[in-house]
Amino acid sequence: MPKRILVTGGAGFIGSHLCERLLEQGHEVLCVDNYFTGRRRNIAGLLGNPAFEAMRHDVTFPLYVEVDEIYNLACPASPVHYQFDPVQTTKTSVMGAINMLGLAKRLKIPILQASTSEVYGSPLVHPQPEDYWGNVNPIGPRACYDEGKRCAETLFFDYHRQHDVDIKVIRIFNTYGPRMRSNDGRVVSNFICQAIRGEPITIFGDGSQTRSFCYVDDLVDGLIRMMQTPKEITGPINLGNPEELQIRDLAERVVELTGTKSEIIYKPQPQDDPHRRKPEIELAREHLKWSPTTKLETGLPKTIEYFRAVGCSDEER
Ligand code: NAD
Ligand code: UDP
Ligand code: UDP
Repeated sequence: MPKRILVTGGAGFIGSHLCERLLEQGHEVLCVDNYFTGRRRNIAGLLGNPAFEAMRHDVTFPLYVEVDEIYNLACPASPVHYQFDPVQTTKTSVMGAINMLGLAKRLKIPILQASTSEVYGSPLVHPQPEDYWGNVNPIGPRACYDEGKRCAETLFFDYHRQHDVDIKVIRIFNTYGPRMRSNDGRVVSNFICQAIRGEPITIFGDGSQTRSFCYVDDLVDGLIRMMQTPKEITGPINLGNPEELQIRDLAERVVELTGTKSEIIYKPQPQDDPHRRKPEIELAREHLKWSPTTKLETGLPKTIEYFRAVGCSDEER
């Protein structure tokens, strides 16, 4: 049955891929975005589709629309962006959650929250299962994002217990792919753009730290599978790629795939940079029958191709 689906943050990196996939599945999509970090370019290809509608709106304000499902993705996601206006970041997470939960409550519809591995903070447990409570500094520069997302999860579970709202909470780990921002400071976009520009590739520390990168198409598949679960499945459920990779290996792969003449240079490692990050995805395997299928060898070339096509400047909308 085709549905009318609201995607907040739909003009962003993950949101625009989600809008695209939902349209392909025959649904109508209402994309709500204030274009803080999202871009019209990300959804330009969808604007001619009569099943797609884009609305400029800030989720910290109430929203009265009629829809069948909500994916709540609105929130800047990278430190440079969420620390630009930290108060607005907390407002987006918290007031955005309240408004979207109010909407879901009135319409009696399911609502999915894009939470984050950052709710685990600087984890003392590795890898992180969903029942780990995390280790978060409530007053540091990352708190607007981490605590905002934690409070949003609290609101989701209280609306569930108190008002019987059908909630779906997903904790997303490092995700990459076309439509990442070139200026967001993330390692994948940094390395690719440095390689394309012929600039030195900057490894922070000795590059032995690990991350696990999930290709955006796999992640979107997980979000949609979560929405399709029965009401008793509320999450939180981790989504990410458990394949761990050292940052220096990533740099070497980018050099190889781009054929760049860029040299690899080493810079000081940022304070509190986690040495390892890897999702534990047993719950996703069990409840969603989901695990990532896109290997870095497939996902990285697609991301490189994207940056080559659109350029590495973030000036354009
Ligand atoms: P993004 O910045 O590309 O997308 C976020 C979108 O939300 C943007 O289009 C932005 O304009 C919009 N937005 C921000 N504040 C808003 C507001 N007040 N009202 C309306 N729209 C607003 O980031 P993304 O990587 O696509 O992330 C999407 C979601 O996934 C976010 O909630 C993020 O926290 C979560 N997430 C992402 C990652 C990742 O690796 N990319 C990891 C964990 C969690
Ligand atoms: N809300 C909204 N759209 C709706 C219903 C509610 O944006 O369709 C907002 C509303 O402004 C309110 C918030 O969601 O501030 C929380 O709604 P809830 O019903 O929980 O709270 P109440 O209206 O009782 O304060
Ligand atoms: N990193 C790096 N060079 C860069 C950007 C990041 O070596 O130009 C490292 C960073 O120190 C971290 C890892 O890559 O160890 C992942 O960084 P990112 O900011 O992408 O994600 P997060 O740390 O939030 O997982």
